[in-house]
Amino acid sequence: MSRPKVLVIGGGFAGVECLHRLEHRLKPAEAELVLVTPTDYELYLPLLPHVAAGVLTPQSVAVSLRRRLRRTEVMPGIAIGVDTAARSVTVRNRTGDLRELSYDYLVLAAGSTTRTFDIPGLKEHAFGMKTLAQAAYLRDHVIEQLDLAAVATDPAEREARMRFVVVGGGYAGTETAACLQRLTAAAAARFPRLDPGLLSWHLVDVAPKLLPELGDRLGANAMATLRRRGIEFSLNTSVGAVTADSVTLTDGRVLPTRTLVWTAGVVASPLVGTLDAGTVRGRLTTTPELVVPGAPGVFAVGDAAAVPDLAVGGDAITPPTAQHSQRQGKAVAVNVEAQLRGTAMKPYRHRDLGLVVDLGGTDAVSRPLGISLSGLPAQVVARGYHVMALPTVTARTRVLVNWALNSVTGDDFVRTGFQQGRPATLQDFEHTDVYGAGVTRK
Ligand SMILES: Cc1cc2nc3c(=O)[nH]c(=O)nc-3n(C[C@H](O)[C@H](O)[C@H](O)COP(=O)(O)OP(=O)(O)OC[C@H]3O[C@@H](n4cnc5c(N)ncnc54)[C@H](O)[C@@H]3O)c2cc1C
Repeated sequence: MSRPKVLVIGGGFAGVECLHRLEHRLKPAEAELVLVTPTDYELYLPLLPHVAAGVLTPQSVAVSLRRRLRRTEVMPGIAIGVDTAARSVTVRNRTGDLRELSYDYLVLAAGSTTRTFDIPGLKEHAFGMKTLAQAAYLRDHVIEQLDLAAVATDPAEREARMRFVVVGGGYAGTETAACLQRLTAAAAARFPRLDPGLLSWHLVDVAPKLLPELGDRLGANAMATLRRRGIEFSLNTSVGAVTADSVTLTDGRVLPTRTLVWTAGVVASPLVGTLDAGTVRGRLTTTPELVVPGAPGVFAVGDAAAVPDLAVGGDAITPPTAQHSQRQGKAVAVNVEAQLRGTAMKPYRHRDLGLVVDLGGTDAVSRPLGISLSGLPAQVVARGYHVMALPTVTARTRVLVNWALNSVTGDDFVRTGFQQGRPATLQDFEHTDVYGAGVTRK
């Protein structure tokens, strides 16, 4: 007998949480569950800076879909277009072939990509921090700069290789700069020919404050901690141009460097643009029940969706965080089930629990439930939060063991070279060029 098909696009926080819950709430005869996603793991993004810094192995933040989902059919591929009138999705699979998938209910949970601007050279030369491959690539790249600086005969080249620029003073950029600065400071001790005094880290943001989500006091606290570790800040400043060996700031300064890490926010997946549906700031408009108005059977959740924030009220939409995405995944499963059974759907409501920012070692700032913490207590809360939020016991154990191992044995600063020679632009890693135009349906 044919069963209604629930198709989920995106195996991240929201998508996997939704399917995990549907597997438990629905009998196999009630619905066919299908997931389209490019990888066979759910990525725990908040710990990506630890992967880049070598504190965690890449495997420890990649949670196996086969372990979490027992009866969902997982299709490796990227959804490149949604036809809401025909209730079908065009999928480009791993081999590049296009395939049409029909659905009765669609949950769009394709997340976000790095936000860029029309800055000359940015798309060609910036590194991102959104995928596991980017974190691994960046780690190799940073260690390689020290390797090359150690043998450089030109002092200007040596200085440029030892200068690192991160753009974005939100949690992603701040944690990335903080964790990688610790990596280079520790690594420099293994390079006797390098002067550690030449190491220089710059954190740039167009906003006047660091970590505005945490309030003035904690933002200032984080800045003071990072300044003590040698990180320089350029606030109220942006990037005017980028080349292979320099970054020009909007205040006119030119920083010779081989490394620009770009973490200046996110935009909803380009898949959103292929739907005939409303958007708010590029994210798919939904009702509080996570339904996309005017698109029968379609729900949207996570970073790709503009979900009304009922806990804040007014025109507020929920921020693009794992905290909301995970909970929206659970909430949408309840509403898909309600649709299948003809019962009433429930509105999504969640009061933000606060934010944790891990600056590496015992440095951190966090505000759980409105309580401001810094230093070791904040770090205990931050790491405790991540361990609880990781979705499986195996993943929690891996992360805990890796943290313990790293604190005892340290890092050997080895470049894996697995991705050497591959194109490394934001587009190469985030596949933002495969959507919409040129979609030919079979
Ligand atoms: C460095 C960093 C640190 C962060 N730290 C925190 C933090 O401390 N706390 C917090 O709450 N949030 C944090 N976030 C934000 C958080 O990770 C995101 O808000 C969250 O991942 C969004 O969940 P999602 O399910 O919407 O998308 P994701 O988790 O990104 O999942 C999207 C999934 O969809 C897949 N996909 C994308 N496009 C397609 C397509 N076209 N077809 C099929 N599949 C597709 C992707 O491969 C991925 O598997 C951080 C983010 C970063 C980058």
